[in-house]
Amino acid sequence: MLRAAAAAAAIFPARFAAAPAVAAAEELRSPLLRVLGTLRGGRGSVLLGRRARFCSNSSASDSEAVAAAAEAEAKAEDATVAEGEADGKASSAIVPTNPQIEDCLSVVALPLPHRPLFPGFYMPVYVKDQKLLQALIENRKRSAPYAGAFLVKDEEGTDPNIVTGSDSEKSIDDLKGKDLLKRLHEVGTLAQITSIQGDQVVLLGHRRLRITEMVEEDPLTVKVDHLKEKPYNKDDDVIKATSFEVISTLREVLRASSLWKDHVQTYTQHIGDFNYPRLADFGAAISGANKFLCQEVLEELDVYKRLKLTLELVKKEMEISKLQQSIAKAIEEKISGDQRRYLLNEQLKAIKKELGLETDDKTALSAKFRERIESKKDKCPSHVLQVIEEELTKLQLLEASSSEFNVTRNYLDWLTVLPWGNYSDENFDVHHAQKILDEDHYGLSDVKERILEFIAVGKLRGTSQGKIICLSGPPGVGKTSIGRSIARALNRQFYRFSVGGLADVAEIKGHRRTYVGAMPGKMVQCLKSVGTANPLVLIDEIDKLGRGHSGDPASALLELLDPEQNVNFLDHYLDVPIDLSKVLFVCTANVIEMIPNPLLDRMEIIAIAGYITDEKMHIARDYLEKNTREACGIKPEQVEVTEAALLALIENYCREAGVRNLQKQIEKIYRKIALQLVRQGVSNEPDQEALSITENEEPSNATEKDEILKDAAVEDASVTSNMINPASEEANELNITTEAPKEDGVSEGKDTDGAKEDAADKAIKKVVVDSSNLGDFVGKPVFQAERIYEQTPVGVVMGLAWTAMGGSTLYIETTKVEEGEGKGALVLTGQLGDVMKESAQIAQTVGRAILLEKDPDNQFFANSKLHLHVPAGATPKDGPSAGCTMITSMLSLAMGKPVKKDLAMTGEVTLTGRILPIGGVKEKTIAARRSAIKTLIFPSANKRDFDELASNVKEGLEVHFVDTYSEIYDLAFQSDAGAETS
Ligand code: ADP
Repeated sequence: MLRAAAAAAAIFPARFAAAPAVAAAEELRSPLLRVLGTLRGGRGSVLLGRRARFCSNSSASDSEAVAAAAEAEAKAEDATVAEGEADGKASSAIVPTNPQIEDCLSVVALPLPHRPLFPGFYMPVYVKDQKLLQALIENRKRSAPYAGAFLVKDEEGTDPNIVTGSDSEKSIDDLKGKDLLKRLHEVGTLAQITSIQGDQVVLLGHRRLRITEMVEEDPLTVKVDHLKEKPYNKDDDVIKATSFEVISTLREVLRASSLWKDHVQTYTQHIGDFNYPRLADFGAAISGANKFLCQEVLEELDVYKRLKLTLELVKKEMEISKLQQSIAKAIEEKISGDQRRYLLNEQLKAIKKELGLETDDKTALSAKFRERIESKKDKCPSHVLQVIEEELTKLQLLEASSSEFNVTRNYLDWLTVLPWGNYSDENFDVHHAQKILDEDHYGLSDVKERILEFIAVGKLRGTSQGKIICLSGPPGVGKTSIGRSIARALNRQFYRFSVGGLADVAEIKGHRRTYVGAMPGKMVQCLKSVGTANPLVLIDEIDKLGRGHSGDPASALLELLDPEQNVNFLDHYLDVPIDLSKVLFVCTANVIEMIPNPLLDRMEIIAIAGYITDEKMHIARDYLEKNTREACGIKPEQVEVTEAALLALIENYCREAGVRNLQKQIEKIYRKIALQLVRQGVSNEPDQEALSITENEEPSNATEKDEILKDAAVEDASVTSNMINPASEEANELNITTEAPKEDGVSEGKDTDGAKEDAADKAIKKVVVDSSNLGDFVGKPVFQAERIYEQTPVGVVMGLAWTAMGGSTLYIETTKVEEGEGKGALVLTGQLGDVMKESAQIAQTVGRAILLEKDPDNQFFANSKLHLHVPAGATPKDGPSAGCTMITSMLSLAMGKPVKKDLAMTGEVTLTGRILPIGGVKEKTIAARRSAIKTLIFPSANKRDFDELASNVKEGLEVHFVDTYSEIYDLAFQSDAGAETS
């Protein structure tokens, strides 16, 4: 503001300016001027050396001003010449002496409201008083265009420091004569009227005046004395020093302010001699000081004192300019780093564009990544944001064709696509969970109970993290589908990956980014695919983990699963820790013994043993059949699979513990039914529900229904191709009325049952699958009854085995190879493992001891070479549970006595005949039931396991729990032993 005031008062508007030329020689004469000149840069002398005209506006309205300026210029030029002549005698003259100036002893008084006018400066003033204005115009027309310019005093009682608008100006205009005189400072300036435009009068200050008396009242005209500075010694050290200080201070201020530079330029262009008094005037005029301080300088005729006053003013000015600089700096610092960065980035972009490095792709790419991460910004950990930011910057700098660019792009793609902090709301509602589990699975009440317990704990804790569930059991018992149901119950996304045979640690932990084709590990892929950070991850076949050649997959998996470690899981590719603690892991395994111990330690095992026929019937009816029917688009009224057919299917085709094979067989049946229906001309509308279920599933896991449909397509194709051939056996076997279109080249099918009218008339066609035609749909039975013998022959005993596939029954056979004194020996076949081989030897020893006890005369073991075989295919068998079966088989042969009918046994025997416990009681019981066994022998240590079984499994079985072999002997060979029947 101060500066603005100074500008208004001291700068003369460029368009009114007519700068008188100053001879270059004259300028050089003044060292001070040279100093100031250098401040304007090299252009100074050039400008000074020629006529400069500040009139740049040549519009018509300004023409008068231009003319006036030209006139003033001409006069000033005269003055310069005159000054040159008078130089020697009037060194103290402020402005060049004009002969007419001396005559100006009475002048029109012009009140200046804001600042006094200093010699050498231009000042525009507005004259409101018309009479005064007229007098000035007339003055100008005459040969004496001069007036006296006097600063107006403040009214008494007003504070000069307070700005009060234009009130005082107004009152000044109203004052006349003596009143006006009273309000004017006595000392003023003789001002040349350089131009008048409207009420604007431009004055150029010449020399100091003092009012002596009033001559005329309106317009106020006064008599004046012309003032001159008191004589001073040019070489006075104090004056010199003071003036130098003024100059150096001015230089300092000039350096900072461009506004001041303009002042200097204007001033030096038309002021000739630059002596000490003038320096003082200059400093005071361009300083933004208060008008009264300026008036003081004007009134001071002592050169030293004037310089001192000016020095004070310019020092103050310097302080102000320093303050201004610090304010500017502070404001600049406030412009935040972001804006700066933005500017720099824009510049960088411009530079790149200029160099042809910038491609639009790159910008679009970073914009895409930025947009992606923008929505996750508040949830995303700061260390990840930082990495993303760094990578984005890197991307900008890289050449788009370089391989590193691609690496960075892929990396950013992964980083930004992950669901940072995005969790699905967990549902811990136990009733809801129960409903879903029942909806998806029949039976399995103990398993469901365990899962509900787990959910209940989750509800109370508020989180289900920190637990790893492991579902173990034979294939097809529903481990995977239970995992899926748990996810559904908890409202978590489901992701499944199998680690069976996995040997490469990078599958789990990812590759380092430097490898070609590097990919993140399975877990990161999972997060990307499910889009939430708390999915349920099903890790399949954890018992079949491979052995890594570099690194151990088991320990990598441990890192992934262990709640202690997975809070900061570090994928090699991602290179930033991710929090997997919210992920719920469910593993599946067939045999828990094969799970690496450190993993097993952290797991909660839930075992699923397998299903008995009754359970399979329910599963087949209520779940498998229903799903398959929907997947095949068949309506319930179009098909009927009878109870007997289903039972036959289960008993004769699908004997394994699980139901996967059963499911496959049912699918096979339904596909054939579908074909049959289509051949009969049925066309069902696509089942909307089935379609929508398929669409809602995650893309990573092809649903079973999809698979069914796919399989169906493949199989149908083969069936169709069979059907095309009329001689096809299958076509003839199926009871189908075939109405194939003639153009397909298919001849009319044969109606073997003579039901032609059915195909023609019935609107709803129904296919019935009965036990009698089951073979037409699923082929010949795979299994004959596991039970081969109604009554086992001598030397054959039924044992119970337990494998990864579930429980099964098997016959152990012993026969005599040759007999002779001391020929006693044992040959074993049936791909037995070491444990079973030892069992067989123990069996022979213990059998011999028992026989000796029961029939001391029998030399069978001593004289017979025995051959023991464990049949049931080429499967390698091993495990400590066949000992007692082997003994029984040998004893049966030795005594020539078959064992009790419908008996099966399991248990290991020590040399002293003690029976050791076995595993898989439930599986074995289920297997025994399947083989229609009525009497079972278990080690008594397994009684508790058996008691825990569901009553429908135990139902109708006669079970004996034994401690020693002699008890088995009694049960097997004598039929009167006491038994416990459930
Ligand atoms: P696993 O993972 O144990 O090998 P799956 O989970 O793949 O077995 O199950 C095979 C099929 O059997 C699935 O379609 C599943 O729905 C079905 N299934 C298994 N057990 C049951 C059950 N108790 N009730 C209904 N369906 C079942």
